Amino acid sequence: MIEENLNKIKNDIPEGVTLVAVSKTKPNHLIEEAYAAGQRHFGENRVQELEEKHAVLPKDICWHMIGHLQSKKVKKIAPFVHLIHGVDSFKLLQEINKQALKNNRTIDCLLQFHIAQEATKFGFSIEEVQEILKSSEFLTLNNVRILGVMGMATFTECNEQVHSEFGVLKDYFDELKANYSDVLPDFTEVSMGMSGDFKIAIEEGSTMVRVGSSIFGSRG
Ligand SMILES: *Cc1c(COP(=O)(O)O)cnc(C)c1O
Repeated sequence: MIEENLNKIKNDIPEGVTLVAVSKTKPNHLIEEAYAAGQRHFGENRVQELEEKHAVLPKDICWHMIGHLQSKKVKKIAPFVHLIHGVDSFKLLQEINKQALKNNRTIDCLLQFHIAQEATKFGFSIEEVQEILKSSEFLTLNNVRILGVMGMATFTECNEQVHSEFGVLKDYFDELKANYSDVLPDFTEVSMGMSGDFKIAIEEGSTMVRVGSSIFGSRG
């Protein structure tokens, strides 16, 4: 079943787009089933669950932290996390840098933007990110690598609105890539699109989709 779901989604996404299988709340045997089908990128949104799954599942899994991350919890995932999608404050970025340094590694990050109309979704404004990128403090963060941007569209039936919000995120990406290439030399990723809207996200330029329920079933 899971293999079928994965194949169906892979048919719908172009070659260069990374599929992150969002396994939050799902038991390990379902992750193992996806792993057996060749899936290696998995996404979790809670630190404790991510730690527990990392401890027992195959070591070549690339674990993506896709949820809101509190600074005080960064140290728990710093040794192994593959990519942190939800960087939404400079303080958090500084803490990730500090923990990466302690672990003698570089941690890849995405800057999360607030693009939805819902007040509950986390993220920067473009002005906040520009401020950070212009600051001298940013230049001291040698153990984080900003790979791109992440965002979530409003949960709505209105496809036009979803198109427009993902379009805004892609515009932010393009504008940062064009104007800050000296401080963002590795800027290539646009993480947008979930089960309900990943086709629209791809049309708007997504390079990374985070798909849960269409692979593993609804979370009830
Ligand atoms: C849960 C979650 C997803 C996946 O959602 P589905 O609708 O199940 O595909 C993607 N991104 C984030 C940030 C999530 O929290």
